[in-house]
Amino acid sequence: RIVYVNGKFLPEEDAKISVFDRGFLFADAVYEVSSVLNGKLIDNEGHMWRLKRSLDELEMQHPASAEEIETIQKTLIEKNGIEEGLVYLQVTRGAADRDFTYPANTKPSLVMFTQKKNLLESPQAKVGITVITSPDIRWQRRDIKTVSLLAASMAKMQAKAAGADDAWLVEDGFVTEGSSSNAYIVTQDGTVVTRHLGNEILAGITRKAALRLAEEEGIKIEERSFTVDEALAAAEAFVTSATTFVTPVVSIDGQKIGDGTPGPIAQKLRGIYMEEALKAS
Ligand code: PMP
Repeated sequence: RIVYVNGKFLPEEDAKISVFDRGFLFADAVYEVSSVLNGKLIDNEGHMWRLKRSLDELEMQHPASAEEIETIQKTLIEKNGIEEGLVYLQVTRGAADRDFTYPANTKPSLVMFTQKKNLLESPQAKVGITVITSPDIRWQRRDIKTVSLLAASMAKMQAKAAGADDAWLVEDGFVTEGSSSNAYIVTQDGTVVTRHLGNEILAGITRKAALRLAEEEGIKIEERSFTVDEALAAAEAFVTSATTFVTPVVSIDGQKIGDGTPGPIAQKLRGIYMEEALKAS
């Protein structure tokens, strides 16, 4: 596999990052994941917009322009022959002598790699996923897409140990989001409910597209907090993320949602999201 590191396309075994890189020592880094269908990037403009925002919020230097980054993404997709999968990109603040504060002139690092993955024919999308709820112990700037993913990893391991597919994170009794996705319920009267944007959740690029498509379909939407009890009583539940698109959730903490099969609104939204993504690809 060919990867990209700071201006060079290299075989992965030849790629190097300093042990003093602040991404490694302090999780002082941000990332983006864009999906690839038919060799084309999906929703990449949104991912580039969010990358810029994450960098600006952390006062991190931009390693390259959005146009340059996209060119590198496309080159990497081509070099690795990716038809279906993803491009991961990470910007770290760069290497500096280990200290909590960093010199203003620290040069950022840009790293990218691709992964082949079946996105269209995902078995999880057909049968839906099961989730457990878990306390949201992440920091309070979840709107910035940083690589400090330890709390999310722990929550996913907890889900796995419980025999579930993923975790929904809960703060003050309210669901914030999935461990790596945005979380939604559909009320018994057919309203899609998902947490409002703020520092407590990541503004998903797929969330934005899914809400736009739902609105175009005439589906009622409420962007507000919802409790675990409300989720358990919902007609449907689902999640969105760049690599899973719209994926139905069929049980929460071992309790069936609706009849325990993927709901009609989740399936409809997945269908129209995929249709649009494939048209753009
Ligand atoms: N929330 C969290 C915590 C995530 O990690 C992700 C996936 N990166 C999302 C939401 C969904 O964001 P997107 O649709 O942009 O992939």
